[in-house]
Amino acid sequence: MFIGAHLSISKGFKATVMLAHEIGANTFQFFTRNPRGSKAKALDDKDLADSMSLRREYGFGPLVAHTPYTINLGASNPDTWEFAVSTLKDDLIRAEKVGALLVVHPGSHGGQGIEYGLSRVVDGLNRALADSGENLLLLEAMSGQGNEVGSTFEELNQLMQGVKKRGRVGIALDTCHLYGAGYDLKNDLDGVLASFDRKIGLKYLHALHINDSETMLGSHRDRHANLGNGSLGMEFFAKVVKNPVFKQIPLILETPDDSEQSHHKREIEFLKKNSR
Ligand code: FE
Ligand code: FE
Ligand code: ZN
Repeated sequence: MFIGAHLSISKGFKATVMLAHEIGANTFQFFTRNPRGSKAKALDDKDLADSMSLRREYGFGPLVAHTPYTINLGASNPDTWEFAVSTLKDDLIRAEKVGALLVVHPGSHGGQGIEYGLSRVVDGLNRALADSGENLLLLEAMSGQGNEVGSTFEELNQLMQGVKKRGRVGIALDTCHLYGAGYDLKNDLDGVLASFDRKIGLKYLHALHINDSETMLGSHRDRHANLGNGSLGMEFFAKVVKNPVFKQIPLILETPDDSEQSHHKREIEFLKKNSR
C-alpha cells in the first residue's frame, strides 16, 4: 500500500523523501508553491534526480502534488480566472517532471450559481489541459463550504464529462470532505463507494486524503482532525485500509502534525498495522 502525509518540501525533494521514509511513509503530498501565494520555486534538477533514485530504492509509490488555494477556476473575474488557468498549467508541467499526480480544488462560483460554476470550471480545465504535457489532474471532492463546486458525485461527474481530454482527469477523495458533504462513509463505506462507482467510476479514483473530521455528517464544513480525534473515529480508518479499493492508490494524511509528538508517524503505523 502507499501511505504518506502532506509534507513541506522547503528543504528539497531528497530531504523530504528521507523524512517521509523516517515516518514510515512510502509516498507524500506537497504544495506546488506557497499555498496562499503564487510564486513557485524553480525545480532543482540534481535534488530531483537524487530524490527519484531514493524513491526507487525505498519502493515509493506515486507522489501527490497539490495546487495552492489561490487557484479558482470557477471565478467570474477574468483576471482571477486567467491566473488560475495559467498557474494550473504551470503546475501540471512541474508535477509531471517530479512524477506526481496533481490535485486541484475545482473552485467556487462566488454566488453566480452552481451551473455557472460548473461550466466555468470546465472551461478552465480544458484550457489548462491543452499543451501542458500528459500528467494526470485529480479533482478533489469538496465538503460544499460556501459556494464550492464539486462536493457531490453528480457535480464531479459533470466536470469530468465536460473535459475533452478524458484520459487526463481523475478524482481525489477526502474522507473529511466526503463526510462534511453528507456521504455517510462511517456507517456505509461500501455503499458510498458503490455510489461513486455508478456515478463516476472507481477506475477514476487515484488518491485518497485520509483525515478525521471535527464536524458532523453533512456540516458542509472542512475541519481536519487527527485520526481518532473526530467524528469518523479509529474503527472507520481501520476499515478504510482493509478495503481493496484503497490498496493501489496513495493515501495521504492531511492531519495536524507536530514533529515532537510525531502524529503522522503514529497515524501511519496505525494504518499499516490495520491494513494487514
Ligand atoms: Fe485539498
Ligand atoms: Fe484534502
Ligand atoms: Zn480539507
